[in-house]
Amino acid sequence: MPIFPNKLCPVKIVRVALAIPLLKYFDYLLPGGVSALEVGSRVKVPFGNSQRIAVVVELDVHSEVPQDKLRPLTEILEPEALLPNSIWKLLRWASDYYHYGFGEVFSQAIPAPLRRGEPARPSPISYWQATEQGRACDLNDLKRAVKQQIALNALRHANPGLTNAELRLQDIANAALQGLAKKDLAEQVEHTPQTGQWHYQQSEDELRLNTEQALAVAAINNADGFQGFLLEGITGSGKTEVYLQAIANVLQQGKQVLVLVPEIGLTPQTLQRFAKRFAVPIVALHSGLNDNERLSAWLQARSGEAAIVIGTRSAVFTPLKHPGLIVIDEEHDSSFKQQDSFRYHARDLALVRGKLEQTPVILGSATPCLETLQNALAGRFSHLELKQRAGRASLAKQTLVDIRQQPLQGGMSPLLLKRIKQELKASNQVMLFLNRRGYAPALLCHECGTVCECARCDAYYTLHQNPSYLACHHCGSQRPVPHQCESCGSTNLVTTGLGTEQVQDTLEQLFPDYPVARIDRDSTRRKGSLEALLDKINQQKYSILLGTQMLAKGHHFPKVTLVALLDIDHALFSSDFRAAEKLAQLYVQVAGRAGRAELAGEVMLQSHHPEHELLQDLVNNGYQHFARFALNERQQTQLPPFNYQALLRFEAPQANAVNAFAEQCYQQALQLNQFGCWVFPATEAPQPRRAGKYRMQLLLQAEQRRALHQLLARLRPQIDQLPSANRVRWSLDVDPQDML
Ligand code: ADP
Ligand code: ZN
Ligand code: ZN
Repeated sequence: MPIFPNKLCPVKIVRVALAIPLLKYFDYLLPGGVSALEVGSRVKVPFGNSQRIAVVVELDVHSEVPQDKLRPLTEILEPEALLPNSIWKLLRWASDYYHYGFGEVFSQAIPAPLRRGEPARPSPISYWQATEQGRACDLNDLKRAVKQQIALNALRHANPGLTNAELRLQDIANAALQGLAKKDLAEQVEHTPQTGQWHYQQSEDELRLNTEQALAVAAINNADGFQGFLLEGITGSGKTEVYLQAIANVLQQGKQVLVLVPEIGLTPQTLQRFAKRFAVPIVALHSGLNDNERLSAWLQARSGEAAIVIGTRSAVFTPLKHPGLIVIDEEHDSSFKQQDSFRYHARDLALVRGKLEQTPVILGSATPCLETLQNALAGRFSHLELKQRAGRASLAKQTLVDIRQQPLQGGMSPLLLKRIKQELKASNQVMLFLNRRGYAPALLCHECGTVCECARCDAYYTLHQNPSYLACHHCGSQRPVPHQCESCGSTNLVTTGLGTEQVQDTLEQLFPDYPVARIDRDSTRRKGSLEALLDKINQQKYSILLGTQMLAKGHHFPKVTLVALLDIDHALFSSDFRAAEKLAQLYVQVAGRAGRAELAGEVMLQSHHPEHELLQDLVNNGYQHFARFALNERQQTQLPPFNYQALLRFEAPQANAVNAFAEQCYQQALQLNQFGCWVFPATEAPQPRRAGKYRMQLLLQAEQRRALHQLLARLRPQIDQLPSANRVRWSLDVDPQDML
């Protein structure tokens, strides 16, 4: 609704937040004649020489700016608040807690079209539907094209058709649809999603719960308003069944459920599990959606039309009309932490949201992070434990393999190779894990020792093969493989270290009859390629699965009987205090892939340090024991979760500028610190140069969360005002998860 300033009417002033990285608000004139305007509505305002989308944070403001200096709003995009009150409060809380400007927080929390000022109305999205001929034909005519048959059957049952997101949900490939289109049996149409109400319906029987599961479900169903639950269950203990039955209880009351999963965990398999159980509208929010699909899903959640919303990190901001429950699966997963721009933790925000909306929040994991575990041990969460594997699966045998002085082939010891051979002969699958992609992590000159280094980072190039090139895994730069050493001209260049591509080579030479599936970021770069690989693995088209930690998360591979971790030793000696926790989580998650169905499994962990306390503890006593030990250690060393941290990061192309700025911030922090925080001197970042920029950091720590936030609240505006603040890129990370 455009506004025409009317000189005769009394003038009102409104305060708005803009999506800029400052804590400031801005005042604008609201000409008379506009009566209905709510806090939380979007408006368009002139800002400098451009027009910006802003959100109203206050009405009837007494501005400090003289009235003749204020400019009028350009347009009101909607007179009513865009978000429900609970989400508005959540964003206010997040802006305060993370010390980010409210406008920035708000804009990141809403779908891109709304950020750009488009109306909060569904726009047409594309559907596949069966043609008249497709509806009339005999499905048996397609029995030679099973995928097309399945696809057509699904399209016939859908009204008005299936969106791309829904097709993915049902695992229907584009090729099948194109095949149907060629035969005039299916077509693509544009259509605006219709509003509609759902009724609870279950489409699959529930499993009979074991005692531990039943106790967990009962406890969750009994929650009255907000309650935090840690569902700590070993892999395969049936956590998902607990979620499903708790969700059923909420859906039966006509309420909606929000499920957050790790980035890598939002696979068709996950979605199918929900879709199979519940015949209610499910929307998935993930990076594969286009803008219109995302907006449409968001609107369906806000209007109450979607019963279940499944999404990754940013879905925590999705408004629900009738919120009933939040589930966070694999709560320890690092993808719940946003690592750039607005750095929030979706798990922590989910808990705040649960309090605001008075709903239970379930955090589920086999390897809860130490922060969550401490909350449970301190009685802030109810601790639900599943210690038995559900169904018939038994626990895997664990073997620590001492590889000192062993002849290794592709990083694999003779004992491991022998076991791989046995399992392959028995027609089982084996899974090998190495957290380094590429062929080799360094290429060096055998004459003079010079290593090929990225010109823009303090880092070596990784060699890739087929096709061969060098790539920097820090800044992404690539270059051809040199034929000669840059320092001495020798052509004798050799690789050191081991990446997944090289292990694949070795495996294919040693076991030529057994196909290898490699799963890492390189092999799954194309959209849909990960799904395709996982599909083929479950169809037993591969015998050997090899991958980075992408392979460790949540996937269910029933035929895997042997899991091996080739090289984890670097984590034993890391400077990051979370390295041990992360290694333990990884080990347990990877180990959880073995022997999930009827087949017993074995986990082999290769190390040059088999006597290391951490490895011994993990293998002999399990994650629970390790975690409690680690918590004790954190307490002794005054580290999170017993202390609270915030990290300021700085970077710029000139080393001097970064140094000077970091030092100024340090001095400011020292001066403002009347709260007993520790202000550590500014230091070089663990990676002092990346992508041509010099990097420094400043760590703040406190025993009391309040003290840290008091300091940050005074420090942040001061930094904004430092004269060189726009020459150095800086960011604030509250509760940082790593120091990189
Ligand atoms: P988690 O999420 O804890 O790793 P899942 O929920 O994936 O475990 O369950 C592992 C397997 O056990 C699945 O195949 C699931 O169907 C099965 N399962 C779970 N609960 C039961 C139960 N109560 N009775 C029989 N099988 C179960
Ligand atoms: Zn050389
Ligand atoms: Zn680089």
